[in-house]
Amino acid sequence: MAKTSPTVPFIQQADLTGLNTLGVKAKAEKLIKISSTNQLHTLFKDGVFYSEDPFILGGGSNVLLKRDISRPVLKIDLDGIKVKSEDGKSVAIFAAAGVNWHTLVEWAVQNNFGGIENLALIPGTIGAAPIQNIGAYGVELMDVLESTDYFDTKTGEEKTIQKESCEFEYRDSIFKNRLKGRAIVTGITLRLTKEGHLINSSYRSLKEYLEIHDISNPGIKDVFEAVVAIRKSKLPDPKLIGNAGSFFKNPVVDTDLFKTLAEEYEGIPGYKISDNEVKIPAGWLIEKAGWKGKRVGNVGTYENQALVLVNHGGATGEEIWNHALTIQKSVSQKFGVDLTPEVNIVE
Ligand SMILES: Cc1cc2nc3c(=O)[nH]c(=O)nc-3n(C[C@H](O)[C@H](O)[C@H](O)COP(=O)(O)OP(=O)(O)OC[C@H]3O[C@@H](n4cnc5c(N)ncnc54)[C@H](O)[C@@H]3O)c2cc1C
Repeated sequence: MAKTSPTVPFIQQADLTGLNTLGVKAKAEKLIKISSTNQLHTLFKDGVFYSEDPFILGGGSNVLLKRDISRPVLKIDLDGIKVKSEDGKSVAIFAAAGVNWHTLVEWAVQNNFGGIENLALIPGTIGAAPIQNIGAYGVELMDVLESTDYFDTKTGEEKTIQKESCEFEYRDSIFKNRLKGRAIVTGITLRLTKEGHLINSSYRSLKEYLEIHDISNPGIKDVFEAVVAIRKSKLPDPKLIGNAGSFFKNPVVDTDLFKTLAEEYEGIPGYKISDNEVKIPAGWLIEKAGWKGKRVGNVGTYENQALVLVNHGGATGEEIWNHALTIQKSVSQKFGVDLTPEVNIVE
């Protein structure tokens, strides 16, 4: 076995079952816990990025491990949240890549810093948040992000990239494309409000929840609590049943195809995103193709949300992937719409 680095310790044949929320049984030949950026510099000097192409792991809530990983796995454990600067109205917060995302949201709400309350209870780490521009309940990371710090594995430099250059889109960014495999996110800076919070309660289920609970003028704490309650009632807890949240992205189709589908399938939901493009909820397509709550062997889709693939226990990565391919094919045959995984497939 290649010696990854003479100075950075690693665990051999590390069990990753508890480190991915789908609960897939897989091993890493070498697992390195990164708790300081100095370790990244050492790995760079030792040529590890050049010769061994390590895989970067955060909280494992958006990955499907298809098999054991022979590349070194770097588990990002960089810690710390701090206020970088503030004025009367807003505050710039730095959070290190290993911090749990929801911990930051809770901390912000407790300190009356507004802007990320709609993103409560999204699993995973800070470092992964810019990778797919996490989003929920009408808010995306790009709405509050100022910049992302990363370690460049090609040059060994620590760099900062401003929001405008991150090429953020729906569940996409420069880190999933041009900088994939090159940028290890080490931390992010967010701009949050201290007063005059911009409350976003327009998302339908959030609006309904607030109405039912007679909250007519919600503050950030109300929104936070509402989002937590809604998510707990709708999404499966990975501690109880293995899953990685939405398995596929919501597909964007051209208006002509959407019109044809709407004639055939009454009530098909669609959200206009440009003059000639409509986004269709992938969960609706999967449900109408007959997969909601259906179990095949150890794999299935969640009973309350067809977009979430679940591991009923003991499913292998290959089994989950094959099931995803079956669903993809079935939706394509029925609707002529291609689904793309949101989850990162790790070979
Ligand atoms: C129940 C459930 C609900 C979810 N709900 C949502 C939701 O509402 N909205 C949403 O957007 N997502 C949601 N997700 C998906 C997931 O929580 C997010 O994508 C999250 O940001 C992943 O974080 P992670 O640390 O677990 O990343 P991981 O799964 O560890 O990694 C994901 C990808 O990012 C890369 N990566 C991780 N850390 C770094 C780093 N520091 N530098 C460079 N690359 C890195 C990995 O290589 C991998 O390709 C949900 C998941 C679950 C299980």
